[in-house]
Amino acid sequence: MSDDLTIRRAIVDACREMNRSGLNQGTAGNISVRRGEAMLITPSATPYEAMQPDDIAVMPFEAYGVWTGPLAPSTEWRMHLDVMLARPDVKAIVHAHPVHATALAMCRKPIPAAHYMVAAFGGTDVRCSRYATYGTKELSMAALEAMEGRTAVLLANHGILAVGASLAEAMWRAVELETLARQYILSLGIPGGPVILDDGRIAETLAKFGDYGLRHKVET
Ligand code: 13P
Ligand code: ZN
Repeated sequence: MSDDLTIRRAIVDACREMNRSGLNQGTAGNISVRRGEAMLITPSATPYEAMQPDDIAVMPFEAYGVWTGPLAPSTEWRMHLDVMLARPDVKAIVHAHPVHATALAMCRKPIPAAHYMVAAFGGTDVRCSRYATYGTKELSMAALEAMEGRTAVLLANHGILAVGASLAEAMWRAVELETLARQYILSLGIPGGPVILDDGRIAETLAKFGDYGLRHKVET
């Protein structure tokens, strides 16, 4: 496993990349990485350009809500911690407010299998959760419920959550989800709308996928 400083630097880099690429804006969004029996998470309301590796908060799994660090952890620490506790497969989480995926979440519309890349999120669709106020346990539960069997979810009237076996994988998924959302919205504007692939086609894609797109991801 990567050492503490490497993970902290990777989180800060990912935050800056998230805003540079247009995936997120301002101080919206937050990122966490599992490190042994603890979670490293971005501080709340901190501009990403000013954020330093030492600002990342540490929250041990065994003491729910306890944190160490110079700045308070993200207001979404519950959602990150609850997902990590419930899903041992999750090593990193990216939460963001990307424009197109969030527009769908505002309309509470899931993304169907309009493109085979929906399989990158584990199944035949990306669901939209029920609404819950940011930072609440209710939001954790809503996200977990709608992310069952999936690696991403649209958070109603809010944004997205994408998870991965590494930070690089979670970031890759977040970018793919926003791209898919944009493509889906564009396709809805064409007469007749998109043709939805049947479950068998998505099952074929899932079988072919393996670790496609994940081979170049760093360990962090
Ligand atoms: P934080 O700045 O506290 O991480 O909150 C941003 C956010 O996206 C809340 O949902
Ligand atoms: Zn948010």
